Amino acid sequence: MPIRELPDELISQIAAGEVIERPASVVRELLDNALDAGASHISLRLQAGGVRAIIVEDDGKGIPVAELPLAFKRHATSKISSLDELESVATMGFRGEALAAINSVADCRINSRPHDGDAAWQIDGRTGELSRSSRNPGSTIEVKELFFSVPARRKFLKSDNTELAHCLEAVRRHALARPDVGFSIWHDGKLIEQWRAGSLAERIAAVLGAEFSAQSLPVELTLATSFGGVRVHGFAGLPDFARSRADQQYCFVNGRFVRDKTIAHAVRSAYEDVLHGHKHPVFVLFIELEPTRVDVNVHPTKIEVRFRDGSAIHQAVRNALLSALSAPRTGRSTAEADPAEADDAEAAAQAALQSTHKTPHWPAPSPRPWRAQDMEQLWGGFRLDAQPQPNSSAASPFAPPNAAAQPAAVTTAPLLAGGFDTAAVATAAAPTEATALPYAAPTPAYASVQEPEAEIWPLGRALAQLHGIYILAENAQGLILVDMHAAHERVVYEQLKTSMAAQNISSQHLLVPISFAATPTEIATAEEHHSSLQALGLELSVLSRQSLAIRSLPSLLIKGDALALARSVLAELAEHDAATVLQRAQHDILATMACHGSVRANRQLTLPEMNALLRQMEATERADQCNHGRPTWKQLSLKDLDKLFLRGQ
Ligand code: ADP
Ligand code: MG
Repeated sequence: MPIRELPDELISQIAAGEVIERPASVVRELLDNALDAGASHISLRLQAGGVRAIIVEDDGKGIPVAELPLAFKRHATSKISSLDELESVATMGFRGEALAAINSVADCRINSRPHDGDAAWQIDGRTGELSRSSRNPGSTIEVKELFFSVPARRKFLKSDNTELAHCLEAVRRHALARPDVGFSIWHDGKLIEQWRAGSLAERIAAVLGAEFSAQSLPVELTLATSFGGVRVHGFAGLPDFARSRADQQYCFVNGRFVRDKTIAHAVRSAYEDVLHGHKHPVFVLFIELEPTRVDVNVHPTKIEVRFRDGSAIHQAVRNALLSALSAPRTGRSTAEADPAEADDAEAAAQAALQSTHKTPHWPAPSPRPWRAQDMEQLWGGFRLDAQPQPNSSAASPFAPPNAAAQPAAVTTAPLLAGGFDTAAVATAAAPTEATALPYAAPTPAYASVQEPEAEIWPLGRALAQLHGIYILAENAQGLILVDMHAAHERVVYEQLKTSMAAQNISSQHLLVPISFAATPTEIATAEEHHSSLQALGLELSVLSRQSLAIRSLPSLLIKGDALALARSVLAELAEHDAATVLQRAQHDILATMACHGSVRANRQLTLPEMNALLRQMEATERADQCNHGRPTWKQLSLKDLDKLFLRGQ
């Protein structure tokens, strides 16, 4: 075939192939236009999931009759006139091809009356015929029988319900971006959603549900940059509220809904400490920056953008989320805790620790307000006593456990080698010395302290292990259940992070290196990242073209699964090549290491080992959540237990 220019209609249909995939794409384009026209209320009427009809009515500025024929013309737009403007465009649309594209694959009609005009006119998209009509100022765009002329594309449409769901999602995105605009949505003659104009918080509650609002934290941060700053604000869901699908993640750049890898990575890295890899946090985030620093013209549907300063955006988003997530969460205390008490405890903790250490995030389970003195004992003062504890409850299984009758001390006797009690091992030589764990910053000034009573330990005194998975402990409120593996993983992870920050992950040389068959990628990664690996306490050497050897391991993880550890660290490193990414990925890697180095389920622990873990959890930041976002412990109060047995009812 000779080279020919394509007819206009065909060009538009080709463009439609890129821009208009399904009814929801039409909804998106029409809403963009209505918002650009300054609408304060938009109503959307759909028939048969939008396949039969999509009618968008707005009270925006309208279109003068002289311009109506242009609206359907390809590359006709009122929004930009020069390349300069393309750089700084602040509107939703600007390519001037949406209406032309839609008109090439559906039956379209515009009915519009400009705000300053007294007459309404309508135009038929197919014939271009103009006629007088009547309506209030604003525009109505009607799109009927989508793809009626392109049966091949119509075949790809899903059921009406599925298409309707996609349309609703498109409206949700616009509605979240513009809480100041009211929306009503009708389907087959029924009103299905109505969102009044209001604040962002109100809009989020209306669109995503009250649950979302209750389970999210406000985000607000402005990062100063050489180009005028990046502001990140909105709401981010608590880790507990993360979902198995990434279906409640809304990110807007200068008011436009986008999906962006840099932002996605920043979000993931902010949640990495508290969320399971397969869970997806929920959020509504707005990123605002100088329009010339972002290119919104890289994708036909404008859903992808390109940042000139990706790392500043990354940093802004990550920091904004980190500070929102690490804010103390009052009001999230366990069942019976009185919020006022929790505050007291928080204050006491603050007073005791002053600027020396961060306040632990868990709610205080203590029935009485904690005193600073208690905190001091808790953090720095408990003794390591070499005497094994008599276990009175073991003698008679039905005797009620009596906390006061037992010496409330942690013993170092049968320790889990390489486990969570390395700190205790290190200090076992001086058993009478009160000992501070390495991460519990305040070292007690006194050499001997009173033995604290079990009741002041928030996580209580270990009673038993259940099926090799859970630790049962008794505290003042009742029963504590601990997921052993999850808890230990958290403790190890925080220790690794602390030593990483101090650039001193201690590692242990293996007398007999562990060699293993490795893929070419693993070998290349081991070579390329040799020094990073060393910083992580992991020394690998290349044995041959097909094998590697582990020569040293982080001391904390010496008893873990070395092979699995090496393999997964290599896999993570291979994914993150650049040095900057590596910096960001460090926590991912530490989490992986902690996972492989932690005590596995089905390992029998002695009571002293269990107690040591409980004490370490108390001293560990964020110990109430494992690295994967699962809770590490739960309190069952006596009241809860009484309820189970219908006592006193
Ligand atoms: P773009 O939005 O990229 O400019 P469109 O094809 O979506 O291109 O729209 C073409 C033009 O029609 C717009 O530039 C605008 O001037 C006008 N227009 C479309 N919809 C509306 C509306 N709801 N209210 C006012 N003007 C509109
Ligand atoms: Mg448009």
